[in-house]
Amino acid sequence: MKNKYEGDVTIMMYSLKMRASQSKSGSSQHISGAERIINENEINLNVEAFISRAMNHSKGQPDFINLKIEAVTQDEIQYVDALPVKTVEVLNAETGQEIILKYLEQIGITNGSAIMKMFSQTYNMRGAMLLDVDTLERLEPNHERGLRATYMDAVHNSANKVEDTKNHFAEAIVLASKVINAPNIIGEICVSDDPNYVTGYVAALSIGYVRITKLKDMGSPDGGRIFLYRGDHDKVKDCINYLEHQKVLVRNVPNNPATQNKNAATKNIVTNCSIVDKNNFLMETINNLKQNNLYRTMNVIESAQDSHVAIDGHDFIMMASNNYLGLTADSRIKVAAMDAIERYGTGSGGSRLTTGNFTLHKELEDDLSKFKHTERAILFNTGYMANVGTISALGRSGTVIFSDELNHASIIDGCRLSRAQVVIYRHNDMKDLENNIKKIAPSNGLIVTDAVFSMDGDIANLPAIMELTKKYNLLVMVDEAHSTGVIGGTGHGIVEHFGLKSNPDVLMGTLSKSLASEGGYVCGSQTLIDYLCNKARSFIFSTSLAPATIAAAKAALNVLNTEPERVKRLHYNIEYFCKHLNHYGINTNTESAIVPIIIGEEERALKIASELYNKGIYISAIRYPTVAKGQARLRAAIMATHTEDDLNTVAEKINRTIKP
Ligand code: PMP
Repeated sequence: MKNKYEGDVTIMMYSLKMRASQSKSGSSQHISGAERIINENEINLNVEAFISRAMNHSKGQPDFINLKIEAVTQDEIQYVDALPVKTVEVLNAETGQEIILKYLEQIGITNGSAIMKMFSQTYNMRGAMLLDVDTLERLEPNHERGLRATYMDAVHNSANKVEDTKNHFAEAIVLASKVINAPNIIGEICVSDDPNYVTGYVAALSIGYVRITKLKDMGSPDGGRIFLYRGDHDKVKDCINYLEHQKVLVRNVPNNPATQNKNAATKNIVTNCSIVDKNNFLMETINNLKQNNLYRTMNVIESAQDSHVAIDGHDFIMMASNNYLGLTADSRIKVAAMDAIERYGTGSGGSRLTTGNFTLHKELEDDLSKFKHTERAILFNTGYMANVGTISALGRSGTVIFSDELNHASIIDGCRLSRAQVVIYRHNDMKDLENNIKKIAPSNGLIVTDAVFSMDGDIANLPAIMELTKKYNLLVMVDEAHSTGVIGGTGHGIVEHFGLKSNPDVLMGTLSKSLASEGGYVCGSQTLIDYLCNKARSFIFSTSLAPATIAAAKAALNVLNTEPERVKRLHYNIEYFCKHLNHYGINTNTESAIVPIIIGEEERALKIASELYNKGIYISAIRYPTVAKGQARLRAAIMATHTEDDLNTVAEKINRTIKP
């Protein structure tokens, strides 16, 4: 026996087993049994409890009690988690049995009825049947005795009460949690053989421990256990060995159905055979996403957001960040944020309209309105909230919102939350937009568009849109999330880019991209900002941004104002990268920092992004629903701080990965 030492002390536990029986007319009749794995100081109490349990059993008084105490070392013990428990309440045994068949189907067993018929052979067995679910061959060596899964207990602490009555519920979970870990076991079904206990269960890793409240009629002693085996029979020996000898302690075993494990405790009341599991849709949706290559996961970055980042201790060229000007790690901006914490503390303590309105908020709003040449500005907590709050406030009933089909999700959500009629026009298609406007001829209308489209990197035809708003007396709102700091000779955004003489009515933007912080804003007239301050719910009902966040954005805006060469460098990098891709025959061209490389199939885009990841390039695969189905793409985002070397490497590796 191997020992594990902690210093010089072997950590010992003890397996304690009790079997009580009665000899009736020469044959031995099982009365009661129990087992635990415990510490030395718990032996006496547990022996007493076991004897009391044996002597007071409803089946009668035993004339033979077998107590076995064996030493077990810690490293012989395997720890497993308790299966999550769910209770299905049924009105009669027949429904209960049908429920079992449904669950068996869920774990890939289609001949459930034939398996349930095997219970007629378990009634007189002491142990469980080990059944090949496909051939219905019984695999336990001794059919009369059956298999005994043994050497298991719940992980308990010494404060646990020692119980002298059987806790059917907890003990069954311990057993099922061990059994389903045995080699080639895919599940277990159990119907209690206690005449006074009609509850049973079906258990498997994928469905958990499903407790069914009625599986037989009260008073019936018929019951049994079937361990469901699937696979080659050369593992039968290992399976039996595991069940009979492996010491297992099960974590997080609930004591009663009312305190089922938090992981997946559900309760369903079922009056017919359909299983209505209120959590089913979660798993179904997740599985669906996985099957369609649409399941999303998160990477963990261990360094600052910059042109290179560390993940798992490795260096990656960052080609997916919105930190276009590379300012998130700029020391001047960090110092401004730290100073703000020194002066104002960490949180703002309330919404702008209650306590969370500091000098800093006002100063940043003034800076933004100056930058965008508007009368005023208003801050929101995110760009998302700026769109949702503004559009839902402007879109009153009777209003018609005309929205580009490729607008950002936050615009779409704002439209959904509004009471307005929403009309989607074809992407950047001015003819389609005008036709729609003419058809409806709204008296209150709003055109809303991204300035730079976030997944394609193209720029809205704002001059034409402004003409239409004049002609039809409509409001226009532009989302400058990807244009501020990026387009226009000095990064002032779409108005500068087109050299327009006047501003759109609503200029929305975010502090989270070029401005290296987080938060959103809207710039416009005094009247518009007053209106939003009173009507935009995401502004009114949310705690305002923290001082450090505001100070960082303010400092970044100052850098943008005073260092136009950063914007120039970004423009240079964009052109340089596109030229390189073109040189490899990858056709892409953009004036913004977003360079889409269309792949098509979702699965292929994911595969290419993951191959590039393995080559040290962090680039996003954008898939449905962010873009249309079959339009999956790599989306490269360029930063002012990328070097030519970075961009050469990326272009060359993209080329090699895309082309077989
Ligand atoms: N609008 C657009 C066009 C965006 O791309 C985004 C963010 N990706 C937002 C709004 C939301 O901004 P934020 O991330 O600040 O919530």
